[in-house]
Amino acid sequence: MTAISSLTAPLRLWARLPLWQQIVTGLVLGVLVGMTFGKDALSLAPLGQLFLNAIKMLIVPLVFVSLVAGITSMRDTSKLGRISAKTIAIYMVTTAFAVSIGLLFGGLFSPGEGLNMVAAEAASAAQAPALIDTLVAMVPSNPVNAFAQGNVLQIIVFAIGLGVSMNLIGEKAEPAIKLFNSLAETLYKLTDLVMRLAPYGVFALIAGVVGSHGAEVLLPLAEVIGVIYLASIVHVLLVYGGLLSLLARLNPLRFFQGILDALVVAFSTSSSSGTLPVSIECARKNLGVSEGVAGFVLPVGATINMDGTAIYQGVLALFIAQAFGIDLNAGQYLMIILTATLASIGTAGVPGAGLIMLGLVLSSVGLPLEGVALIAGIDRILDMARTTVNVAGDLMTTTLVGRSENELDLDIYNSSDKE
Ligand code: ASP
Repeated sequence: MTAISSLTAPLRLWARLPLWQQIVTGLVLGVLVGMTFGKDALSLAPLGQLFLNAIKMLIVPLVFVSLVAGITSMRDTSKLGRISAKTIAIYMVTTAFAVSIGLLFGGLFSPGEGLNMVAAEAASAAQAPALIDTLVAMVPSNPVNAFAQGNVLQIIVFAIGLGVSMNLIGEKAEPAIKLFNSLAETLYKLTDLVMRLAPYGVFALIAGVVGSHGAEVLLPLAEVIGVIYLASIVHVLLVYGGLLSLLARLNPLRFFQGILDALVVAFSTSSSSGTLPVSIECARKNLGVSEGVAGFVLPVGATINMDGTAIYQGVLALFIAQAFGIDLNAGQYLMIILTATLASIGTAGVPGAGLIMLGLVLSSVGLPLEGVALIAGIDRILDMARTTVNVAGDLMTTTLVGRSENELDLDIYNSSDKE
């Protein structure tokens, strides 16, 4: 009897821990296992994949349903317009801050100096995709295709069209609106259930990443990794903390406490789209943002707002210029700010997307594309940081918009008892 209860005691203790503490424990244990077992830790990969599949399973239906439900909860079209304008404006301003912080840190610490790399040949300037093509491609010619391919931008466009139309027809849309509301609740519950897997999924994913990136891969580039992590932390604390307390008069500590689950999931999955279900749950349950605002601002943010990616591109553009001994002029700096902002908007919220967009930023100012290869080996470690910032930025914007529209429940926001 006692033997059995002494065996089950730790399990009971574990089950009683709040979810965020379980997830953080998973993260720490994952790092330890990765360091101890090296590449063998990759045998845990199926467990990580299972968790990834489970959250990915939610993305398409959740974005679609919560966006339609969110829009139909804002019958007043001028409110919808106002919320969209605020959302886009905050996303743009924070991204501009992010690239600038990236450039500033890259310049201050010069992580690439002394690497003395030689470029095989000068890169030819690549063309950024034309704006008009990007706009045209946002409208799905076949929504079913958009769902099947998980094209979030196209799904957003379709959902906005559908939601606005429901608002326009009024009475007749009632049954459909009820259906979407009920589906949204169901999907929130499913998210809740999937999140119970998070501590184990995070554990397996982190063990694999740490195990496969031994010291020999990380050390030569340790300085650039350090600079990107530092710039990311400074951006989150100063810009997000500052905007929350100065603009919204909210306590930033409560914010960070409330979004911890989303941050850890972002860090271990390197995907802001994948983290979306968790972000929506954190915004509603822990920050007290209304379903309408969270359901609208977050999916848009997971697609276009990538402050972490912008920081990364700012630091790396300078790093690569330093490593190859190339001096940049003022025009090139401006070009980097412009292309990094556009590239971060165009970056998909999936692992590794930022590395591909880095090529675009480099070639726009004629920096050698070998820089991409130099970074590729450690990109996952950098991706973890930038995705975490990307998700924090989406949640911060959601909080600001919610607060300014009176769609934020202060009792929930200020409660110290987060899930
Ligand atoms: N992995 C990042 C994200 O999902 C995008 C990137 O690679 O920069 O937010």
